[in-house]
Amino acid sequence: MARYDLTAADMAVLLESEPAYRTRQVWDGLYRQGTGPEQLTALPRTLRDRLASEPALAPALSLDAEVESDGGDTVKWRWALHDGRMIETVLMHYPGRTTVCVSSQAGCAMACGFCATGQAGFERNLTTGEIVEQVVRAGAEARQKARRLSNVVFMGMGEPLANYDRVWAAVERLHADVGLSARHLTISTIGVIPGIRRLAAAPLPVNLAVSLHAADDVLRDELVPINRRYPLAELMEACREWVDAKGRRLSFEWALIAGMNDRPADAARLAQLARDVRAHVNLIPLNPTPGFLTMGTPAAGVRAFADLLTSLGVNATVRRNRGTDIDAACGQLAARVTQHPDRTD
Ligand code: SAH
Repeated sequence: MARYDLTAADMAVLLESEPAYRTRQVWDGLYRQGTGPEQLTALPRTLRDRLASEPALAPALSLDAEVESDGGDTVKWRWALHDGRMIETVLMHYPGRTTVCVSSQAGCAMACGFCATGQAGFERNLTTGEIVEQVVRAGAEARQKARRLSNVVFMGMGEPLANYDRVWAAVERLHADVGLSARHLTISTIGVIPGIRRLAAAPLPVNLAVSLHAADDVLRDELVPINRRYPLAELMEACREWVDAKGRRLSFEWALIAGMNDRPADAARLAQLARDVRAHVNLIPLNPTPGFLTMGTPAAGVRAFADLLTSLGVNATVRRNRGTDIDAACGQLAARVTQHPDRTD
């Protein structure tokens, strides 16, 4: 249990010997200002000291490394958890918005061969507090640069829908206590069907991204092993249910891999699936990772693929690649693996 794992009722118990407004004050400090009780100068000294040494109010994340790229517009943090596990969080400033990409698990069990986290394997689920604290700390950093954190994407390490309950509790906390709009929260999944169904029934209108990468089962079985359990036809059925239930735009993520999923026939199959559920397609050339030798599609091929999708009636965007040089780009988060023994970051 750490500070962002406590419920408001837990907090009230910790502060039961104090006037009731103290609970709200400490809570708002944590969520609205991103300030731990040790920094809340409005508290009487003795209370502040007591709370600062209260184990249940300790931070969950200790900074292991911070790296910047894109002229400071991308920041990656590696955090050590209380048990020594490592996770990563990436903050990205864009002209009209500031987005944090958070991890939902230490490692990942989905084993996608092209993803550095998948190559490293699964360690454990993150707690709600470990997820929320990534957002709050990114928000504090954004404020220092006079920016306001506006968006959260669950696109860091891990499969959010394989840690559904804690991820959903984090979503509720971000919405109710951090004050982020549910429409600015995006859960990205490799296609865990039961989780998609639960999202369809959940009250808050968060966005859903499905990491598709292949539009036929033969190729998808190979790229995304969980496809053998949740094949495309059933996945598309669940996507349709989600769209019908929420009336929100679904997106498909597609990492373009040279010669594997970037041919005109792939675009045609993808277009059909996307049109069926009116999904928006986000294209990104595959980022390099140590365990996968096939390259990302070159820029001209990415453009041609996007144009082909457009001509087939599909909305497609080419995603800007952030933080490749600091291993902060999609699919490159692998805090556990020592890939660069010569680096000190
Ligand atoms: N497990 C969830 C959340 C991880 S999100 C999911 O799969 O959606 C990370 C996103 O980056 C996913 O769309 C994933 O497919 C994509 N990705 C993984 N490895 C990548 C790589 N090497 N290059 C580009 N994108 C990658």
